[in-house]
Amino acid sequence: MSRTQAVRDKESQPVPSANFKALIESSSRSSNSRLILSLDLDFRNEVKDLVHDAKQLIRDTSDYICAVKFNFHLIAPLSLQDLRSINDLISDYHLPSIADIKLNDIDNTNRVATEYLWKAGFSAVIVNPFVGYEGALDVVLTRAKKLGKGIIVLVYMSHRGAQEGYGLVLKDGRTLFDLFLDRATQWRVDGIIVGSTRPEKIHAARGRVGEEIKIFSPGSGAQGGDPLKSLEAGSDYLIIGRSIVESENPKEEANRLFRSLLPWTKTH
Ligand code: C5P
Repeated sequence: MSRTQAVRDKESQPVPSANFKALIESSSRSSNSRLILSLDLDFRNEVKDLVHDAKQLIRDTSDYICAVKFNFHLIAPLSLQDLRSINDLISDYHLPSIADIKLNDIDNTNRVATEYLWKAGFSAVIVNPFVGYEGALDVVLTRAKKLGKGIIVLVYMSHRGAQEGYGLVLKDGRTLFDLFLDRATQWRVDGIIVGSTRPEKIHAARGRVGEEIKIFSPGSGAQGGDPLKSLEAGSDYLIIGRSIVESENPKEEANRLFRSLLPWTKTH
């Protein structure tokens, strides 16, 4: 049954697990998709149509994706109520939703920020491990585990200058990338972010974190990464923004990308 059909006939669908990792795995299995739609709508002076446009994108692509990600493109301009209403639609389609705020602050700020995200209906949050555990991400990790929410840690970004930060070499010879992989394993997070633009980093990360920690890769399409190469290198999920959102026909583009990856997704 397609997601569109499932929304028309909600009663016939099983209640999804509250746990983020189980939810995205079951969503991905049922749609044969590893695509996460990044709802990166471009800047506009008038924000009143953002909710409508975001919902339309979700309806158009729901059969071809396994989750949705929000960035500041929506989190900055929209109210809690607006975010909630988009997340309600996402949840009607049995899709999890991820808040990409690269959380990077002290514990009290992190606690308040994530409570709002959970209230707005998000199922996971992306955090920056740079800030460390004690007095920073400890509260977020503990609370998320209790609520079945997902924590995804940035370990190597997708942009050109990522090497300037994530490639820094520490006194003990490890890079920041190595350190962040170690933190992700130690903190037993649900996922890590490694950009599609560097399949060799995805491959290295896969070997280090095992199968339990899922690899999320943004950077295919607009940033030049190759989606199939990322999957072959070990990515579990591909985050796609502009190449779908800004295409003339997002539904067709999502379908095209989905079909191009089907031979791989059906066999893995
Ligand atoms: O448009 P595009 O497909 O490049 O969008 C990628 C999305 O993933 C954006 O929301 C971007 O901020 C986010 N992201 C990224 N690289 C990271 C982490 C997040 O591109 N390492």
